[in-house]
Amino acid sequence: MGKIQLFETLVSSAPLRGVSNFSARLLNDCFNIARWPQACQLCGAEGKKGMLCGPCLEDLPWLPARRCAQCAVPLASGGICGACLDRPPRFDRVEAVFAYGFPVDGLVQACKYGGRLALAGLLGGQLARAVTGGVDAIVPMPLAARRLAERGFNQALEIARPVARATRVPLLRNACRKVADTPPQAALPWDERARNVRRAFVCDADFRGMRVAVVDDVLTTGATLNKLARVLRKAGAVEVVGWVVARTLPR
Ligand SMILES: [Zn+2]
Ligand SMILES: [Zn+2]
Repeated sequence: MGKIQLFETLVSSAPLRGVSNFSARLLNDCFNIARWPQACQLCGAEGKKGMLCGPCLEDLPWLPARRCAQCAVPLASGGICGACLDRPPRFDRVEAVFAYGFPVDGLVQACKYGGRLALAGLLGGQLARAVTGGVDAIVPMPLAARRLAERGFNQALEIARPVARATRVPLLRNACRKVADTPPQAALPWDERARNVRRAFVCDADFRGMRVAVVDDVLTTGATLNKLARVLRKAGAVEVVGWVVARTLPR
């Protein structure tokens, strides 16, 4: 089966489509993982240990090593990019694994919109291998209550779980909330995204003196992470880093 074809299957054959019951989805996903031999989620090759076969894993769009030290956008020379120099973000740096392109975009979307929770484990596992640690707490990027109710889960939290386990850093799942129910960022042009997330977060926990990692699936402009970083700093955080599965590359 070709990769594109497989992605259509991945998204359209989401388990228990239309059922918003979180437990049912989780059960269904666990059942699928437990099958043996397991098939590669991308090419269908059977009999491997993880969710992807070696060649498919190797072919993923790994983010190049030379990137902006702050926002992780690929740079020919390393250092800090022009955008971060012009308007320094409130986060210290971003650690990202992949460029947000084929087939990582399909995996993220199948997880988020298709309810394929097992893929959060796959993506979180890759993120766990890439991050350098050195933080005191992990905060999943909060999802607005209404969207959480629609989706049944916060993909950032599901991605953060294996990262917290691997790094042994406490996962503070309820420390921050999203208060404004903003339209999905993906539906907006880039220049409207910064405005869209204004006054979107509240932190209830005391972050004084803490180095905090914010886990998310995709970093696009960094506007959302910047907003949360600002609020975390107000709550006392001394360092805020973004740990993201994939980073969108500028066009
Ligand atoms: Zn494969
Ligand atoms: Zn930058």
